[in-house]
Amino acid sequence: MALQLRPNCEYCDKDLSPNSTVARICSYECTFCADCAESKLHNVCPNCGGGFVQRPIRPTTEWRQGLSMAKRPPSNTRVHLSYSLDDIAAHTMRIKDIPPENR
Ligand SMILES: [Zn+2]
Ligand SMILES: [Zn+2]
Repeated sequence: MALQLRPNCEYCDKDLSPNSTVARICSYECTFCADCAESKLHNVCPNCGGGFVQRPIRPTTEWRQGLSMAKRPPSNTRVHLSYSLDDIAAHTMRIKDIPPENR
C-alpha cells in the first residue's frame, strides 16, 4: 500500500501536484491545501475529525528499483467535499480546540 497522492484540495479544488509542499493529509488521506487546512479547517479534517500533516513527496527519480513517481503513479481521481460548508464550519468549531492526540 502506498499513499494515493490525490490531485486536488477537497475544499477549494486547487491542484496539488504529487511534489507539492503545501499538500496536507489526515490519517485517512483526506487531502487539502495548507491554506484550507489552516484558515478554513483549523487543523480539523471535515470527514474524520483528525488533524493534518504535510504530505510526503514521492521521489521522481527511481533511486530504488520499482519505487518512483513513474512506477507508482499518483491518483488522478479528484475528491470533493462530502458535507455542506455550514456543516463543516460547525464540525470544525466543535473540535478545533481539542488537540489531535486527544480527539
Ligand atoms: Zn484548499
Ligand atoms: Zn480525515
